[in-house]
Amino acid sequence: MSNIKPYEGKSYEIIVVGAGHAGTEAALAAARMGHDTLLMTMQLDSIVALSCNPNIGGTGKGHLVREVDALGGEMALNIDKTYLQSRMLNTSKGPAVHSLRVQADKREYHEAMKTVLENEPNLTLRQGEVVSLLYEGDIVTGVATATGAIYRAKAVIVCTGTYLRGRIFMGELNYSSGPDNMRPAEELSSSLTDMGIGLRRMKTGTPARIHKDYINYENMELQEGDETVVPFSFLNSEKILDRPQIPCYLTYTTPKAHEIIRENIHRSALYLGDIEGVGPRYCPSIEDKIVRFPDRDNHQVFIEPEGASTKEMYVQGVSSSLPEEVQMEIYKNIEGLENVRFMRSAYAIEYDAIDATTLKNSLEHQKWNGLFFAGQINGSSGYEEAAAQGIIAGINAVLKIEGKEPLILDRSQAYIGVLIDDLVTKFTDEPYRMMTARSEYRLTLRQDNADLRLTDLGYEVGLVQKNRYDHFYHKKENVDSELKRLQNIVLTPTEATNSVLEGLNSAPIKTAVTMAELLRRSELNYLSLAPLDIERPVLKKEVWEQVEIQIKYEGYIQKQQQQIDKFRKLESQPLELEFDYDDVQGLSTEARAKLKQIKPQSVGQASRISGVSPADINVLLIYLEMRRRRKFNEMA
Ligand SMILES: Cc1cc2nc3c(=O)[nH]c(=O)nc-3n(C[C@H](O)[C@H](O)[C@H](O)COP(=O)(O)OP(=O)(O)OC[C@H]3O[C@@H](n4cnc5c(N)ncnc54)[C@H](O)[C@@H]3O)c2cc1C
Repeated sequence: MSNIKPYEGKSYEIIVVGAGHAGTEAALAAARMGHDTLLMTMQLDSIVALSCNPNIGGTGKGHLVREVDALGGEMALNIDKTYLQSRMLNTSKGPAVHSLRVQADKREYHEAMKTVLENEPNLTLRQGEVVSLLYEGDIVTGVATATGAIYRAKAVIVCTGTYLRGRIFMGELNYSSGPDNMRPAEELSSSLTDMGIGLRRMKTGTPARIHKDYINYENMELQEGDETVVPFSFLNSEKILDRPQIPCYLTYTTPKAHEIIRENIHRSALYLGDIEGVGPRYCPSIEDKIVRFPDRDNHQVFIEPEGASTKEMYVQGVSSSLPEEVQMEIYKNIEGLENVRFMRSAYAIEYDAIDATTLKNSLEHQKWNGLFFAGQINGSSGYEEAAAQGIIAGINAVLKIEGKEPLILDRSQAYIGVLIDDLVTKFTDEPYRMMTARSEYRLTLRQDNADLRLTDLGYEVGLVQKNRYDHFYHKKENVDSELKRLQNIVLTPTEATNSVLEGLNSAPIKTAVTMAELLRRSELNYLSLAPLDIERPVLKKEVWEQVEIQIKYEGYIQKQQQQIDKFRKLESQPLELEFDYDDVQGLSTEARAKLKQIKPQSVGQASRISGVSPADINVLLIYLEMRRRRKFNEMA
């Protein structure tokens, strides 16, 4: 490459490297906030490639999609245009874990996003490989490409996913490659290493794709989509989405398949020891499952369509790095796949990722000014996790070059806050997947109220456009006024009222109650109370649903708010990056070392670092108080 003659290309304000799920959100955010942005990616034909499972959302991940949407992102709008099947999960449980999971038409998803990128003002979409970053002192100033182009910028966002020094593994075979045999990015890693940015190997895997006409669906369980499709985007909340839905199927592995795996486990790249990187615990390969759960006779396998115009079917639950011939024997022993015809084989892929604890909670690098990282390169796993980091990195790169404070969402505001805080505070040695269990404030961080939590913040930073803000504002106004109205309606124990309640299998009232109090009864809901609420205004579903949730869970939400207030106390105690922990007497050796390594930006963040005890936090708080008083006295 070195004999390529460099040439000066156009300068931009922001450059984004990689048009995956992180890069597209980052680039769109920067361009929509009015800044001249270059989105450079290795293949225009793999923009937002769904390299693994063809679905968006699911538990925890659906929350992230809604939050990206609420902030003015594109992912939710894109999937509402290109879904194949939509299901709301966990509806038998409380609203905190209701999660939308939507199958995407992979080809359409890619094309729809590419169209959005091509038509976005301020955004230049360019095919090419970034081979190095440019810098002066500790300031990043641009990128160089494999074709010799030099592009200058005030900020660079690296979103290279699973491509950096990508290597595919299939049994004894391994070769340099990005996902799906796309070209890997071989050179940027050494540029990052030269800048002192540590890299580590991570790994993930995917199952085979098989031909739909060679599947026997007879003994499989049909999995249909919901009759009424709930849109992912708040902007579509009142729209009827009625694309034709395609079913999925549930089947199972067999003891014979398990036997084949056990007999060949020594040929799996993972067990051969060829793979150095650590894989995602929550998306284990079939080999891992057999080893981890030796007594299980079968494992669930979901057969999912990849697109309306393709015969390819995704086999969820059977990712593997075993040799191809062994894979085929395994698949033939999955119920209904006796005549299986492979279209793409399963494989594992290893790639370079950074240690995200070297980043600030704005996703800017602690040492390199103007350099941001987002997506799988930060050690996360999943399209949704990538998109969430991408939009925040895009917003913060803009705020950086505008000389403004970054947008930091804390753990009580958003799952995005939980995601980024976990990545930059707790070293994760395996790809990090979002789950609702990772949040301390699940009941507050529901997917249904992401707009009420975040849209005004997106508007303040200049990303949320007027139409979205107006939609949000009217919803909020209507929710607030309806809450007030229901709290002010007083029902007395008349015969008429009590006979309605009786009709609803609800106990009669003996004293005056408000409509809100009635609505708290589990057997009653907003719609069923209509006969008692004759002056009720006509409200949109998203409004009365919100009102119902806020009233029914009011007690729990208030209790959680008290915990949040306590959390925010420590979160609002800042710690500067260059804080001198050697000056703090009484810290444990382990805590001092960890604090110096991770450089937390608040006492709250410090309290979440493993190895930093509550006693260490007390020592720190006392030290900060003493320092504050000293400064005060010096100024007095
Ligand atoms: C085989 C496989 C299995 C997976 N399994 C799972 C799973 O089970 N569960 C799960 O949640 N997630 C899984 N994923 C992960 C999921 O695909 C990623 O999390 C997601 O795609 C990450 O998004 P991203 O934007 O960070 O990167 P990507 O989507 O990988 O996009 C990166 C982009 O950067 C471009 N690029 C890279 N280097 C350069 C460069 N030097 N110059 C210019 N452009 C560059 C690439 O062309 C690509 O477009 C899997 C991914 C793969 C590949």
